[in-house]
Amino acid sequence: MHEKYFDHAATTPVDERVLAEMLPYFNEHPGNASSIHHLGKRAEAAVDLARQRVANLLGAEDPYQITFTSGATESNNWVLSRFPIDRIDASPFEHSSVRNFLSYHQCYRGESGLELYAQVLIDNETGAVFCPAEEKKSRGALEVLVDATQGLGKIAFDLEGLDFVSGSAHKIYGPKGVGFLYEANPHLTPMVVGGWQEFGRRSGTLNVPGIVGLGMAAELAREEREVNFAQATELRNIIREELDGIDNLKFNESANQSPFILSVSVLGVEGETIVLDMDQKGFCLSAGSACSSKSTALSPLLLSFGVEPEWIRGTFRISIGKDNSRESSRELGENLRITILNLRNSKKS
Ligand code: PMP
Repeated sequence: MHEKYFDHAATTPVDERVLAEMLPYFNEHPGNASSIHHLGKRAEAAVDLARQRVANLLGAEDPYQITFTSGATESNNWVLSRFPIDRIDASPFEHSSVRNFLSYHQCYRGESGLELYAQVLIDNETGAVFCPAEEKKSRGALEVLVDATQGLGKIAFDLEGLDFVSGSAHKIYGPKGVGFLYEANPHLTPMVVGGWQEFGRRSGTLNVPGIVGLGMAAELAREEREVNFAQATELRNIIREELDGIDNLKFNESANQSPFILSVSVLGVEGETIVLDMDQKGFCLSAGSACSSKSTALSPLLLSFGVEPEWIRGTFRISIGKDNSRESSRELGENLRITILNLRNSKKS
């Protein structure tokens, strides 16, 4: 249905099977998961199953280590807000929900030791894959927050040595506005206080349909991870081959690269112009990440990646998902080639 949608790192369509699991929890089973009557119990059981499914995807020992939140932004903010601001540091490749939290709160590294280090698992702009456990060790941090939003269900990773892991349903074919935080040893004090839901860690009436959707999305991501990985690898290669050989074009790639993201920089054309032109042809891409697309500042992440400013202006992101096909990938590559050459020519004339 969404063959020409190549913006899966921004969000994914909800999988039909996920939607089917969610729907009854809007009206057929409308209970509040905290209520003690049968409809409440029904909702609670669905939430328990979802928690187990998320734990399975992560390889967590105990579903009790998972707390449901409104998404990875909240999960990241929650962890960061519980540590002294001068004892936090983060990699330069963090999502805005980490980066802007720290700049908003004027984080500076104090003299005393590092308590928390934030390290994204896969960055959302280039798809570079990191090893958070090693980063934690080399930084000498006591604890590490791993933002696994772009890696969850896509690459295998080990919880060994990780203290906090955040994730979001809408990047794995689940609904928007629901996510989770994994804590190896649940000990964070709550950021959201009220009716003491979620073991007292995160108050607010549970978003039961959303949580059910996250659970089902996690289950499918676990079962289909290898197939999805192989498909993305193949499609990425097709697109890459189509673009290879265009003058003044480069791929922003790292040695350990996610196959789900292809970041491309060209000289002489704005990334946004390419995205808008491709939109006319029915393709959805992104210039930088969707979360920062309203900002005109150069992407700090690409700067940290070593991409020069004139190349950053001409950067766009292709993010691959299970709806894409070989045909649409080939078509994307061909159309991009035409678009880039035409835009360059029209600038000259
Ligand atoms: N971290 C990363 C790496 C992301 O890509 C995103 C979403 N773009 C988030 C966090 C934020 O997730 P959410 O939309 O669930 O708040």
